[in-house]
Amino acid sequence: MSFFIKKLTVIGLGLIGGSLARALKERDKVGEVVGVNRSLSSLEKGMSLGVIDTFTTDLVAGVRGANMVLVATPVRAIVPVIRAAAPGLMPGAIVTDAGSVKGRIVAECEAAMPKGVHFVGGHPIAGTEHSGVEASFATLFEGSRTILTPTEQTAKDALELVTIVWEAVGSRVETMDPKHHDRVLAATSHLPHLMAYNIVKTLSDLENDIQSEVFRFAASGFRDFTRIASSDPTMWRDICLENRDSILEMITRFRGDLDDLHAMVAAGHGEALHEIFAQSRATRDRVVKGDKGGKP
Ligand code: NAP
Repeated sequence: MSFFIKKLTVIGLGLIGGSLARALKERDKVGEVVGVNRSLSSLEKGMSLGVIDTFTTDLVAGVRGANMVLVATPVRAIVPVIRAAAPGLMPGAIVTDAGSVKGRIVAECEAAMPKGVHFVGGHPIAGTEHSGVEASFATLFEGSRTILTPTEQTAKDALELVTIVWEAVGSRVETMDPKHHDRVLAATSHLPHLMAYNIVKTLSDLENDIQSEVFRFAASGFRDFTRIASSDPTMWRDICLENRDSILEMITRFRGDLDDLHAMVAAGHGEALHEIFAQSRATRDRVVKGDKGGKP
Protein backbone atom coordinates (compact mmCIF):
# COMPACT_ATOMS: atom_id res chain seq x y z
CA MET A 1 0.00 0.00 0.00
CA SER A 2 1.50 3.32 -0.99
CA PHE A 3 1.24 6.26 1.40
CA PHE A 4 2.32 9.85 1.88
CA ILE A 5 2.13 11.80 5.16
CA LYS A 6 1.45 15.43 4.35
CA LYS A 7 2.46 16.73 7.75
CA LEU A 8 4.29 14.77 10.45
CA THR A 9 4.96 16.21 13.90
CA VAL A 10 7.69 14.63 16.01
CA ILE A 11 7.39 15.46 19.69
CA GLY A 12 10.72 14.48 21.26
CA LEU A 13 13.11 15.00 18.39
CA GLY A 14 16.05 12.85 19.46
CA LEU A 15 17.64 9.59 18.32
CA ILE A 16 14.39 7.74 17.57
CA GLY A 17 12.18 10.65 16.45
CA GLY A 18 14.98 12.12 14.34
CA SER A 19 15.78 8.78 12.74
CA LEU A 20 12.17 8.14 11.72
CA ALA A 21 11.90 11.67 10.27
CA ARG A 22 15.14 11.20 8.31
CA ALA A 23 14.10 7.77 7.02
CA LEU A 24 10.70 8.99 5.81
CA LYS A 25 12.19 12.09 4.19
CA GLU A 26 14.82 10.06 2.41
CA ARG A 27 12.08 7.85 0.93
CA ASP A 28 9.86 10.82 -0.05
CA LYS A 29 7.13 9.55 2.24
CA VAL A 30 6.52 12.80 4.06
CA GLY A 31 5.80 16.43 3.15
CA GLU A 32 6.48 18.72 6.09
CA VAL A 33 8.13 17.60 9.34
CA VAL A 34 7.61 19.68 12.49
CA GLY A 35 9.85 19.16 15.53
CA VAL A 36 8.69 19.85 19.11
CA ASN A 37 11.14 19.67 22.03
CA ARG A 38 11.50 21.70 25.21
CA SER A 39 14.83 23.24 24.24
CA LEU A 40 15.37 25.45 21.22
CA SER A 41 18.97 24.34 20.82
CA SER A 42 18.08 20.72 19.94
CA LEU A 43 15.40 21.92 17.51
CA GLU A 44 17.82 24.32 15.82
CA LYS A 45 20.24 21.42 15.49
CA GLY A 46 17.46 19.37 13.87
CA MET A 47 16.83 22.19 11.38
CA SER A 48 20.48 22.59 10.49
CA LEU A 49 20.79 18.83 9.95
CA GLY A 50 17.75 18.90 7.64
CA VAL A 51 15.79 16.48 9.88
CA ILE A 52 12.84 18.88 10.30
CA ASP A 53 11.40 21.72 8.23
CA THR A 54 10.06 23.80 11.08
CA PHE A 55 9.84 23.72 14.87
CA THR A 56 8.17 25.06 17.97
CA THR A 57 8.27 24.46 21.71
CA ASP A 58 4.48 24.91 21.86
CA LEU A 59 2.82 21.48 21.88
CA VAL A 60 -0.63 22.63 20.74
CA ALA A 61 0.74 24.73 17.87
CA GLY A 62 3.15 21.94 16.93
CA VAL A 63 0.47 19.32 16.28
CA ARG A 64 -1.97 21.65 14.53
CA GLY A 65 -2.76 20.31 11.04
CA ALA A 66 -0.57 17.22 11.51
CA ASN A 67 -1.80 14.02 9.86
CA MET A 68 0.50 11.94 12.03
CA VAL A 69 2.15 12.67 15.37
CA LEU A 70 5.02 10.58 16.73
CA VAL A 71 5.79 11.03 20.43
CA ALA A 72 9.40 9.97 21.13
CA THR A 73 10.13 11.63 24.46
CA PRO A 74 11.38 9.64 27.48
CA VAL A 75 8.53 7.39 28.62
CA ARG A 76 7.41 9.36 31.65
CA ALA A 77 6.77 12.43 29.49
CA ILE A 78 4.62 10.65 26.88
CA VAL A 79 1.23 10.87 28.61
CA PRO A 80 1.60 14.48 29.87
CA VAL A 81 2.83 15.60 26.45
CA ILE A 82 -0.08 13.95 24.64
CA ARG A 83 -2.61 15.42 27.08
CA ALA A 84 -1.12 18.89 26.63
CA ALA A 85 -1.06 18.61 22.82
CA ALA A 86 -4.58 17.14 22.51
CA PRO A 87 -6.44 20.45 21.94
CA GLY A 88 -4.38 21.02 18.77
CA LEU A 89 -5.01 17.60 17.19
CA MET A 90 -7.27 17.62 14.14
CA PRO A 91 -9.95 14.97 13.53
CA GLY A 92 -8.53 12.13 11.46
CA ALA A 93 -5.01 12.56 12.87
CA ILE A 94 -3.12 9.47 14.01
CA VAL A 95 -0.96 9.62 17.13
CA THR A 96 1.66 7.00 17.86
CA ASP A 97 4.61 6.72 20.22
CA ALA A 98 7.99 5.01 20.45
CA GLY A 99 8.14 4.43 24.21
CA SER A 100 9.95 1.40 25.59
CA VAL A 101 7.12 0.66 28.06
CA LYS A 102 3.51 0.32 26.98
CA GLY A 103 0.94 -0.87 29.57
CA ARG A 104 -0.30 2.23 31.38
CA ILE A 105 0.91 4.57 28.64
CA VAL A 106 -1.28 2.99 25.96
CA ALA A 107 -4.38 3.05 28.20
CA GLU A 108 -3.88 6.69 29.20
CA CYS A 109 -3.00 7.90 25.70
CA GLU A 110 -6.10 6.22 24.28
CA ALA A 111 -8.21 7.93 26.93
CA ALA A 112 -6.63 11.32 26.10
CA MET A 113 -7.52 11.25 22.39
CA PRO A 114 -10.06 13.86 21.24
CA LYS A 115 -13.00 12.61 19.15
CA GLY A 116 -11.92 11.37 15.72
CA VAL A 117 -8.20 11.08 16.65
CA HIS A 118 -6.67 7.61 16.90
CA PHE A 119 -3.81 6.35 19.03
CA VAL A 120 -1.60 3.36 18.22
CA GLY A 121 1.08 2.32 20.72
CA GLY A 122 4.46 1.48 19.21
CA HIS A 123 7.99 0.48 20.12
CA PRO A 124 10.78 0.21 17.54
CA ILE A 125 13.29 -2.39 18.75
CA ALA A 126 16.24 -0.49 17.35
CA GLY A 127 18.60 2.03 18.80
CA THR A 128 22.09 2.84 19.91
CA GLU A 129 23.60 3.95 23.22
CA HIS A 130 23.72 7.53 21.87
CA SER A 131 20.97 10.09 22.20
CA GLY A 132 19.83 13.40 20.75
CA VAL A 133 18.94 14.43 17.21
CA GLU A 134 22.62 14.62 16.26
CA ALA A 135 22.83 10.83 16.86
CA SER A 136 19.88 10.09 14.53
CA PHE A 137 20.36 8.40 11.15
CA ALA A 138 18.08 7.27 8.33
CA THR A 139 19.02 3.59 8.31
CA LEU A 140 18.48 2.95 12.03
CA PHE A 141 15.38 0.83 11.51
CA GLU A 142 16.56 -1.24 8.55
CA GLY A 143 16.42 -4.93 9.42
CA SER A 144 14.88 -4.20 12.83
CA ARG A 145 11.55 -5.16 14.39
CA THR A 146 8.82 -2.87 15.63
CA ILE A 147 6.18 -3.93 18.14
CA LEU A 148 2.77 -2.27 17.86
CA THR A 149 0.39 -2.74 20.79
CA PRO A 150 -3.19 -2.39 19.55
CA THR A 151 -6.12 -2.81 21.94
CA GLU A 152 -9.84 -3.35 21.42
CA GLN A 153 -10.15 0.40 20.93
CA THR A 154 -7.55 0.70 18.17
CA ALA A 155 -8.96 1.76 14.79
CA LYS A 156 -8.07 -0.75 12.08
CA ASP A 157 -7.09 1.95 9.54
CA ALA A 158 -4.81 3.68 12.03
CA LEU A 159 -3.06 0.42 12.89
CA GLU A 160 -2.63 -0.27 9.18
CA LEU A 161 -1.07 3.12 8.48
CA VAL A 162 1.34 2.97 11.43
CA THR A 163 2.30 -0.54 10.30
CA ILE A 164 3.16 0.57 6.77
CA VAL A 165 5.11 3.57 8.05
CA TRP A 166 7.45 1.31 10.05
CA GLU A 167 7.63 -1.23 7.23
CA ALA A 168 8.54 1.55 4.81
CA VAL A 169 11.64 2.38 6.85
CA GLY A 170 12.80 -1.24 6.83
CA SER A 171 11.28 -2.65 10.01
CA ARG A 172 9.31 -5.87 10.47
CA VAL A 173 6.13 -5.17 12.43
CA GLU A 174 4.58 -7.47 15.01
CA THR A 175 1.66 -6.82 17.31
CA MET A 176 1.51 -7.62 21.01
CA ASP A 177 -0.74 -6.96 23.99
CA PRO A 178 0.69 -3.89 25.86
CA LYS A 179 1.17 -5.68 29.19
CA HIS A 180 2.70 -8.72 27.56
CA HIS A 181 5.10 -6.38 25.72
CA ASP A 182 6.26 -4.99 29.07
CA ARG A 183 7.06 -8.45 30.49
CA VAL A 184 8.92 -9.52 27.36
CA LEU A 185 10.97 -6.32 27.20
CA ALA A 186 11.72 -6.41 30.93
CA ALA A 187 13.44 -9.73 30.31
CA THR A 188 15.14 -9.05 26.99
CA SER A 189 16.13 -5.42 27.34
CA HIS A 190 15.45 -3.83 30.71
CA LEU A 191 17.21 -6.49 32.81
CA PRO A 192 20.36 -6.48 30.60
CA HIS A 193 20.57 -2.68 30.86
CA LEU A 194 20.32 -2.82 34.65
CA MET A 195 23.02 -5.48 34.70
CA ALA A 196 25.31 -3.37 32.52
CA TYR A 197 24.85 -0.30 34.71
CA ASN A 198 25.33 -2.42 37.81
CA ILE A 199 28.55 -4.15 36.76
CA VAL A 200 30.14 -0.78 36.03
CA LYS A 201 29.04 0.36 39.51
CA THR A 202 30.41 -2.79 41.18
CA LEU A 203 33.79 -2.39 39.49
CA SER A 204 33.91 1.31 40.18
CA ASP A 205 33.16 0.76 43.92
CA LEU A 206 35.79 -1.97 43.95
CA GLU A 207 38.36 0.32 42.41
CA ASN A 208 37.68 2.93 45.08
CA ASP A 209 37.63 0.41 47.93
CA ILE A 210 40.83 -1.39 47.16
CA GLN A 211 42.58 1.53 45.47
CA SER A 212 43.38 -0.65 42.50
CA GLU A 213 43.41 -0.18 38.74
CA VAL A 214 40.38 -2.35 37.98
CA PHE A 215 39.40 -0.45 34.84
CA ARG A 216 42.96 -0.28 33.49
CA PHE A 217 42.83 -4.04 33.03
CA ALA A 218 39.26 -4.19 31.75
CA ALA A 219 39.50 -6.18 28.52
CA SER A 220 37.36 -6.08 25.38
CA GLY A 221 34.78 -8.33 27.08
CA PHE A 222 34.14 -5.47 29.48
CA ARG A 223 33.58 -3.08 26.58
CA ASP A 224 31.18 -5.48 24.84
CA PHE A 225 29.26 -6.26 27.98
CA THR A 226 28.93 -2.68 29.22
CA ARG A 227 28.32 -0.81 25.93
CA ILE A 228 24.68 -0.26 26.86
CA ALA A 229 25.68 1.33 30.17
CA SER A 230 26.46 4.41 28.05
CA SER A 231 22.72 4.81 27.41
CA ASP A 232 20.82 7.88 28.55
CA PRO A 233 20.20 7.84 32.35
CA THR A 234 16.90 9.76 32.09
CA MET A 235 15.51 7.25 29.65
CA TRP A 236 16.46 4.32 31.88
CA ARG A 237 15.23 5.93 35.06
CA ASP A 238 11.87 6.39 33.35
CA ILE A 239 11.77 2.81 32.09
CA CYS A 240 12.47 1.44 35.60
CA LEU A 241 9.78 3.60 37.18
CA GLU A 242 7.26 2.79 34.48
CA ASN A 243 7.83 -0.96 34.19
CA ARG A 244 8.40 -1.56 37.90
CA ASP A 245 6.54 -4.85 38.41
CA SER A 246 7.92 -6.69 35.39
CA ILE A 247 11.45 -5.46 36.08
CA LEU A 248 11.24 -6.55 39.72
CA GLU A 249 10.05 -9.98 38.59
CA MET A 250 13.03 -10.34 36.23
CA ILE A 251 15.56 -9.10 38.83
CA THR A 252 14.23 -11.70 41.28
CA ARG A 253 14.59 -14.48 38.73
CA PHE A 254 18.07 -13.34 37.79
CA ARG A 255 19.11 -13.07 41.42
CA GLY A 256 17.98 -16.67 41.97
CA ASP A 257 20.15 -17.88 39.10
CA LEU A 258 23.09 -15.79 40.33
CA ASP A 259 22.70 -17.33 43.79
CA ASP A 260 22.85 -20.79 42.16
CA LEU A 261 26.08 -19.83 40.40
CA HIS A 262 27.45 -18.50 43.68
CA ALA A 263 26.69 -21.81 45.35
CA MET A 264 28.30 -23.82 42.54
CA VAL A 265 31.47 -21.73 42.61
CA ALA A 266 31.61 -21.95 46.42
CA ALA A 267 31.16 -25.72 46.37
CA GLY A 268 33.58 -26.20 43.48
CA HIS A 269 30.93 -27.89 41.29
CA GLY A 270 32.87 -27.75 38.04
CA GLU A 271 30.55 -30.09 36.21
CA ALA A 272 27.45 -28.08 37.05
CA LEU A 273 29.16 -24.82 36.04
CA HIS A 274 30.29 -26.35 32.77
CA GLU A 275 26.79 -27.55 32.01
CA ILE A 276 25.29 -24.10 32.56
CA PHE A 277 27.98 -22.37 30.47
CA ALA A 278 27.59 -24.91 27.63
CA GLN A 279 23.81 -24.56 27.62
CA SER A 280 23.99 -20.77 27.67
CA ARG A 281 26.54 -20.71 24.85
CA ALA A 282 24.33 -22.93 22.70
CA THR A 283 21.26 -20.80 23.40
CA ARG A 284 23.09 -17.55 22.64
CA ASP A 285 24.55 -18.87 19.39
CA ARG A 286 21.10 -20.00 18.26
CA VAL A 287 19.40 -16.73 19.21
CA VAL A 288 21.86 -14.27 17.69
CA LYS A 289 22.34 -16.17 14.44
CA GLY A 290 21.04 -13.95 11.65
CA ASP A 291 19.37 -11.53 14.06
CA LYS A 292 20.29 -7.83 13.86
CA GLY A 293 18.79 -7.36 17.32
CA GLY A 294 18.16 -3.94 18.72
CA LYS A 295 17.34 -2.12 21.87
CA PRO A 296 15.74 -1.39 24.18
P1 NAP B 1 16.56 11.07 23.06
O1 NAP B 1 17.53 10.92 21.96
O2 NAP B 1 17.05 11.51 24.40
O3 NAP B 1 15.41 12.07 22.58
C1 NAP B 1 14.34 12.44 23.39
C2 NAP B 1 13.95 13.85 23.03
O4 NAP B 1 12.77 14.18 23.75
C3 NAP B 1 15.01 14.88 23.39
O5 NAP B 1 15.45 15.50 22.23
C4 NAP B 1 14.30 15.87 24.33
O6 NAP B 1 14.63 17.19 23.95
C5 NAP B 1 12.83 15.57 24.07
N1 NAP B 1 11.98 15.75 25.25
C6 NAP B 1 12.19 15.29 26.50
N2 NAP B 1 11.16 15.61 27.28
C7 NAP B 1 10.29 16.29 26.52
C8 NAP B 1 9.04 16.92 26.75
N3 NAP B 1 8.48 16.89 27.95
N4 NAP B 1 8.42 17.52 25.71
C9 NAP B 1 8.97 17.56 24.48
N5 NAP B 1 10.17 16.98 24.19
C10 NAP B 1 10.81 16.38 25.20
O7 NAP B 1 15.75 9.72 23.32
P2 NAP B 1 15.54 8.48 22.33
O8 NAP B 1 16.65 7.55 22.52
O9 NAP B 1 15.21 8.99 20.98
O10 NAP B 1 14.26 7.79 23.00
C11 NAP B 1 12.98 8.34 22.79
C12 NAP B 1 11.91 7.33 23.18
O11 NAP B 1 12.07 6.16 22.41
C13 NAP B 1 11.93 6.91 24.65
O12 NAP B 1 10.61 6.77 25.11
C14 NAP B 1 12.61 5.55 24.61
O13 NAP B 1 12.13 4.72 25.66
C15 NAP B 1 12.20 5.03 23.25
N6 NAP B 1 13.16 4.12 22.60
C16 NAP B 1 14.50 4.39 22.66
C17 NAP B 1 15.38 3.53 22.02
C18 NAP B 1 16.88 3.77 22.09
O14 NAP B 1 17.66 2.86 21.87
N7 NAP B 1 17.34 4.96 22.36
C19 NAP B 1 14.89 2.46 21.30
C20 NAP B 1 13.51 2.24 21.22
C21 NAP B 1 12.64 3.11 21.88
P3 NAP B 1 14.54 18.39 25.02
O15 NAP B 1 15.37 17.94 26.19
O16 NAP B 1 15.09 19.56 24.29
O17 NAP B 1 13.11 18.53 25.35
